[in-house]
Amino acid sequence: MRSTPLRLAVAALTVVASPLAGQTNLERVVNGGYTPSHDYDLIHQRIEVRNVDWDSTSFDARVATTLVSLRPALDSVVLDMGRSLRVRTVTPARSYARFGDTLVVRLSRPAGFGDTVRFTVDYHGAIRQGEGLYFFKDDGRPHRPQQVYTGGGTDGNPRWLPTWGGPADKETWELAATVPARLTVVSNGRRVSDRPAPGGMHTVTWRQEKPASTYLISFAAAPFAKVADRWRGAPVEYYVYRGDSALARPLFGATPDMMETYSRLTGVPYPWSKYAQVTVADFIGGMENVSATTLVDWLPDARAYRDRPWYRQSLIPHELAHQWFGDLVTAEDWGNYWLNEGMAEFMPGQYWGAKHGAHAEQDYYQAEYQQFLGIDARRRMPLATYSSNNVYPKGALVLEMLKTQLGAQPFWASIHRYLTRHAYGNATTDDLRQAVLDATGQNLGWFWSQWIYSAGYPQFVVTSAYDSAARSLTLTVRQTQVDTATADSSGFRFAVPLAFRAPIAIRVGTAAGDVVRRVTIDRREQALRIDSLPGSPTMVAFDDENAVVKTLEFEQPTPWLATLLATHPHLWPRAWAVEQLARRAADPAAAAALAAAARSADYFLTRAQAAEALAGFPGGVALPALEVAARDTSAQVREEAVASLGRVGGESALAIVRQAWRADSSDQVRAAALVALARLGGPDARAAILEGLTMLSYRDAIQNAAITLAVQRPDPELVSALGQVIGVQSLPAAALAALASRGDTAARTRLRGGLDDERPWVREWVLDAVEEQLDPKPALELLREAQPALTRAEARTAVAQAIGRLERPPS
Ligand SMILES: [Zn+2]
Repeated sequence: MRSTPLRLAVAALTVVASPLAGQTNLERVVNGGYTPSHDYDLIHQRIEVRNVDWDSTSFDARVATTLVSLRPALDSVVLDMGRSLRVRTVTPARSYARFGDTLVVRLSRPAGFGDTVRFTVDYHGAIRQGEGLYFFKDDGRPHRPQQVYTGGGTDGNPRWLPTWGGPADKETWELAATVPARLTVVSNGRRVSDRPAPGGMHTVTWRQEKPASTYLISFAAAPFAKVADRWRGAPVEYYVYRGDSALARPLFGATPDMMETYSRLTGVPYPWSKYAQVTVADFIGGMENVSATTLVDWLPDARAYRDRPWYRQSLIPHELAHQWFGDLVTAEDWGNYWLNEGMAEFMPGQYWGAKHGAHAEQDYYQAEYQQFLGIDARRRMPLATYSSNNVYPKGALVLEMLKTQLGAQPFWASIHRYLTRHAYGNATTDDLRQAVLDATGQNLGWFWSQWIYSAGYPQFVVTSAYDSAARSLTLTVRQTQVDTATADSSGFRFAVPLAFRAPIAIRVGTAAGDVVRRVTIDRREQALRIDSLPGSPTMVAFDDENAVVKTLEFEQPTPWLATLLATHPHLWPRAWAVEQLARRAADPAAAAALAAAARSADYFLTRAQAAEALAGFPGGVALPALEVAARDTSAQVREEAVASLGRVGGESALAIVRQAWRADSSDQVRAAALVALARLGGPDARAAILEGLTMLSYRDAIQNAAITLAVQRPDPELVSALGQVIGVQSLPAAALAALASRGDTAARTRLRGGLDDERPWVREWVLDAVEEQLDPKPALELLREAQPALTRAEARTAVAQAIGRLERPPS
C-alpha cells in the first residue's frame, strides 16, 4: 500500500485536527499486532456480488466458504464480518449468530480435526461510502465515470465479505460480479468467464488459483479501456478510463521491464498468472491486491514527465514489488508489517539503480532518508512493532544498508532464500534474519537488534585533529542519540541503542592521494587514529560509502567541504557538504563551491541542492550560477534555481523568473516561477496569479501555487477568480473558506452560492471546506444563513446533515 504525498498547498491552508475515529472491534481483531488463534484453515471462497446499487451504496452477495477444521469436535466457525452486513441465510448450518463484527456459524454437526467444512452465507450489504467498498455515480463530473471498487487496504475486506481477516491464513478464491454490461470487471487471478445476465447486465468471473491472504481480495468495475502488454508470455494489463487510453502506455509501459528486473534480482519469477493495474477515483494511492493492483487515477500527461512524477518513480514499482513482498510472502501479522512495506519501498531504488546507475539508486534513498528523519523527529519507533510509523522509509533504508554491508550477491541470495522458503506463506522478521544466516553464514543478530527491533539511529558528532609531525589524523567520534527514558502516552517504551555498531570506511584526501581506513564504531565515544598520511588532509569523508543511516555533525574547514562536494562520487556526502556550506553565507569560498556545483555537478540532484543553498548568499556570487542553473536541462534544477532567484532578488533575477513563468516547459518550474514572481513583487505579479488560477497542469501544480498566493494576498478580483474555478478541483473552495474564516465577506458570499451549485461535486467540496476551514460557530452561522435560499432537495439535505454534525460534534 502507498498513500499519495500530501498536497502542499492544501497543507498550507488547512489546519484541521484529524477526527479521532473510535476503534471498532473489527480493527482490534483484524489489525492486532500479533497472530490471533483460530480453529480452522481457510481453503477456498466463492464470492458472488450482484444488485450493486449506487444510490444506496448497497449490494447483495453470496459467499461459499470451504475450510478445514483444526480442532477435534469443532461445532462452530467464527468469521470476521462487518456488522453492517445483514445475513439472510447460512446453509447448511444449525444456526448462526452475530457478535459485533463477527459471524458465528454453528455447524449442523461437529467436524473432526482435519475434516472439510462447507457453508454458504447469503447477505445484503448497505455500507457507508469507503467502508470496504467505494461507489461513484456518473454525475457529469469530468474524469469521473460510474464505478465501484474494493478499497480494503489491510483491514477492510471483512466490511464487505465474511472471511478470516488476518493475513496468516491463505486461501484461493473465485469472484463473480454481476454489473451493468458497460462496466468492465477486473479482479485477481485469471478471468474465467464473462456471460450476459438479464436486464442489460453481465456476470464476470475471476479465479485466484494460488493461495493468498484475504486482505488482497479485490475487484473494480468501471467503463475501463484495457491496454494490453506482456511479460515472458504472461498478460500485463492496464485498465484506465477510456479518456485516459492514450496516457496508459507512457505511464505503465515500463511495467514488463520492472517485472523482468525484479525477477532477475530476486531469482524468483513474477509469481502470478497475470498482472493488472487498475485506476480508480479518489483512491488513497495504491494497493497491491494480488495480481490486480488498484491505483489512483492520476495519469500524468506528456508534460508531467519533465517533473519525474511520483506515480512512475515510486508508486508503480512499489506496488509491483508487493507482488513478491506482501503477496507471495506475507507478514504473519501487522507487527511484522515492515516486511511488506519496507521491501516494497526498497525495491524501486533497486530498479532505478539497475536502469540508470548508482546515482539514480542513491537519489531514491536520499528522498527516503529525508522522509525518515522527519518521521523519526515526531516519534521514534522501531521498524518491527505494531503500528510503526516508519515502515516505509526506514524499512527501505535498512534494507539498502543490509545490501551495502553484505554485498549485492549475498544480499540477493538471502532474499531468494526468504522468498522461496516462505512462498505462498507467511514470515516473521526473524525468518528474514534466518534466511540471511542460511544464505551467507552471517549471524546478523546485532543488526536486527539495533536496526529492526530498536528505535533511532546513530547521531554522530566528530572532531578532528591533525598532527603534522606524525602525519596522523585523530577523529574523536561520539554517538549523541538519547534513549527515551520514559514510556510515551501509548504506554510503550522503545529503546534507542546508546551505542550503535557501525562498520564504516573513512576516506582522507591528501595532495598525494586518498587513504581509506575501515573501522567499526561500537562505543559511545572513541578515538580513531589514521597514521602515515602522505600529506595533510584536504578532505575527510566519514562513512565513505554511506553504509550507515546517521546524522553527522563534523566541523570541517571550507576547503575540505568544497573538495568533498566537488569530488565525492556518492550523493549523501555531497548533500551533507551542501548543508554545511549553506551555513557559511559570508564565506566566498563556500559560495564558490556551491556555485560550481550548481553549474556543473555531474548529477542533477546535487546541482538542484546547490542551487537551493545559494538562496542564502549575496547576489553578486549567487546570481551568475543561478542564471546558469535556470537554464539547466533538468526541470528539478531549474525549479530550485527559480525559487532561489526569488529570494536573491534584483532586476536580472526578476527577468529570468519572468521568462520561466512565461515559457518553461515544466509545470513545476512555472509554479515555482509564479511564487518567485509574487515574492519579487514585479508589477505583473498579480496578473500572473490571475492567469495561474485558470491554468491547467498535472495535479494542478500551477493552479495550486496561484491559489496559495491568492489566499496570502487576497483582493476582490482574486476572490472572484477563485469563485470562477470552484468546479475544477477542491482547493478553491478550501481557499475561499480559509478567507471567509478571516472575515472576507465576498468569499463568504461565494461559498453560500456554492452550497446550491448545480454541480453536485461542487456542493460537496464547498460543504467540506466550510466544515473543515471554519470554526464550528461561524460554520453553523453560514450554513443556517444559506439554508432558506437553497433550491435543490439534495443541497437542503446535505446542509441539514452538516448542521446536525456541527450542532452535535462527535464526543
Ligand atoms: Zn505498500
